[in-house]
Amino acid sequence: MDYYQTLGVPKNASKDEVKRAYRKLAHKYHPDKQGGDEKKFKEINEAYQVLGDEEKKAQYDQFGSNFGSGGGSGSHGFSAKGGPAGGWNFGSRAGGFEGVDFGDIFSEFFGAGARTGTRTKQKGRDIKADMMISLEEAYRGVEREISLKKNAMCSKCNGSKNEPGTSLKGCKACGGSGEIRQTHRTVLGSITQVHECAECKGEGKIPEKKCSKCRGAGIVQEAERINIKIPAGIHSGEHIAFQGKGEAAAGGYGNLYVEVHIKENPQFEREGDDIYTNIEISMPQAALGETMTIKTLSGEQDIQIPSGTESGAMIKLQGKGMPRLHRPGHGDHCVRIAIRTPKNLSKHAKELLSELRKEGI
Ligand SMILES: [Zn+2]
Ligand SMILES: [Zn+2]
Repeated sequence: MDYYQTLGVPKNASKDEVKRAYRKLAHKYHPDKQGGDEKKFKEINEAYQVLGDEEKKAQYDQFGSNFGSGGGSGSHGFSAKGGPAGGWNFGSRAGGFEGVDFGDIFSEFFGAGARTGTRTKQKGRDIKADMMISLEEAYRGVEREISLKKNAMCSKCNGSKNEPGTSLKGCKACGGSGEIRQTHRTVLGSITQVHECAECKGEGKIPEKKCSKCRGAGIVQEAERINIKIPAGIHSGEHIAFQGKGEAAAGGYGNLYVEVHIKENPQFEREGDDIYTNIEISMPQAALGETMTIKTLSGEQDIQIPSGTESGAMIKLQGKGMPRLHRPGHGDHCVRIAIRTPKNLSKHAKELLSELRKEGI
């Protein structure tokens, strides 16, 4: 497609002439009008986007119609995918095209590619660690020291990369800007891409003499011992965050997240902050009642089995369960009771039970 032909203007047409020609044709072919022609209308718009802009026009004059993607299709790359919200839809709203400033649309469109962006230094990675503790430790709270091998700021240069006592000099590769700019010229203007300078990693400066400990990396692999304090009442699967205890990078330290796992306990079942245990009592104990000693997480505890206790009954010891995490108070300790049916009876025991049966018990 020859943009000059499309608009019917000579190559040396002035900006005003191009504009006038565009307006006249746009009115004529506007798809909302009778006798309008959407395809033609789009071509006119495409041509005006280029010829109506001095810079783009100059490039078009230089590169000609070889530039762009489509060639004969009349749909150059930018017109197909460009434009606000899903492609150009000229004239769908009556009169909508009149006030459109294509220069603006295109600066917006190309702005995305040309935007320099702000280079933010990356923080170090977060570290996730798992820790297994016992239920008793979860009950009391526990402190553990762990050793983590990780990227740390070099202690000699403090991450500055140069040998202490020497200084940094400007990076020659990027002229101290930390950025390498590459400009691509297109028919619609130039697109500038900005990359971080590989030489100085975007710092703009390089060490005169590299730090002897980290060899100029600013970062070293080191084992760090970290004290992990696990609060009482923690639940299995919960994370504890340690700000700034992750790996180091130019932008600072990441975080350490410790996931706590609590070992299964054969005696105590945990449900939320409540603890469940099971006991078996004999038939006479159930019938007559008795004081018994049971184990809780806070030590031995006497419980009163009331007379006439049925199998499956539960005795609740209030406040004898797990401590509430970061809150005052405790859950409960619940004792489930099962009644043992006597087996392998002695002669005497059989006689006694027969007596009981006679009693209707
Ligand atoms: Zn160093
Ligand atoms: Zn550089």
